Amino acid sequence: RDVVSPDADLDERALEGALRPKRLEDFVGQERVREQLSLVLRGAQRRGRAPDHVLMSGGPGLGKTTLAMIIAAELGAPLRITSGPAIERSGDLAAVLSTLQEGEVLFLDEIHRMARPAEEMLYVAMEDFRVDVVVGKGPGATAIPLDIAPFTLVGATTRAGLLPAPLRDRFGFTAHMDFYRADELELILRRSAGLLAADLDDDAAAEIAGRSRGTPRIANRLLRRVRDYADVRGDGRLTLDIARSALSLYEVDVQGLDRLDRAVLDALLRRFRGGPVGLSTLAVSVGEEPETVEVVAEPFLVRSGFIARTPRGRVATPEAWAHMGLTAPPDAAF
Ligand code: ADP
Repeated sequence: RDVVSPDADLDERALEGALRPKRLEDFVGQERVREQLSLVLRGAQRRGRAPDHVLMSGGPGLGKTTLAMIIAAELGAPLRITSGPAIERSGDLAAVLSTLQEGEVLFLDEIHRMARPAEEMLYVAMEDFRVDVVVGKGPGATAIPLDIAPFTLVGATTRAGLLPAPLRDRFGFTAHMDFYRADELELILRRSAGLLAADLDDDAAAEIAGRSRGTPRIANRLLRRVRDYADVRGDGRLTLDIARSALSLYEVDVQGLDRLDRAVLDALLRRFRGGPVGLSTLAVSVGEEPETVEVVAEPFLVRSGFIARTPRGRVATPEAWAHMGLTAPPDAAF
């Protein structure tokens, strides 16, 4: 696994648990989302009702799971966690919905990957707090309506555009999670260093923040790698020099680009002379799923100003040529 991949495996999830902010006030950045959400939650509490369903969109590692846990904590409500891929049939969803407690928060990660028939069941559950359980097959099949406890759905998706409109419309509030600014990542790093009892210098925090692809998960992971390096090769203090040496050892470049980002840029520049080229063609040429390139690599490359989206396809910017140390051909599209 690449050190700057925004996805986490199970071991890392366990490490992350300790670093997760527990309350809204400790959640760094995303000011607008935080303020809007705080109003939604307080409004619901004043009325003594479950708040509107919340949809969170944004790339992996930006804090969607953390925010779902915070929502439950702020409401003092129990939390149930499941994900789209775990719901293969509508029966899987019915089993979850029919056992929810009153006011429970249901976090449905990767909601866009849920089975279609389950989606329709979810519409009804979200709107009417009811599940229609179908008994029997064929013409004799009957739907038995079953009331379920009022709950709050927190859905997460890497791209809200992937959701069918009827589902999207049933969320009362959509939070768009953006990449984090470097100063926000520095704050997260300092907080994490405190929790890990690591002695992190300010300039080292800035260095790590600048290479974290705007993503808290990556920032926390790079912090752990720098700490290892400081413990083994230094005296335990996380200084700027230690941070730089550790990060270059892990091949995280100054802009935070990882192997996949560089592979995508390299293909775009060398094979396709800077584009324009379609995203799926680009994905095939680096041996990746189009979704991985679209969700993981491209948003960051676009945000960093290396790739531009045009109606005819993806185009490399002059910054991309410069960053990769290549000279653009005279006829390159910018
Ligand atoms: P997602 O569900 O979007 O993939 P997570 O919520 O699992 O992301 O966050 C990944 C890691 O980053 C967690 O360890 C979490 O503590 C940390 N993190 C994410 N967002 C923030 C934030 N706003 N402030 C502090 N830490 C954060």
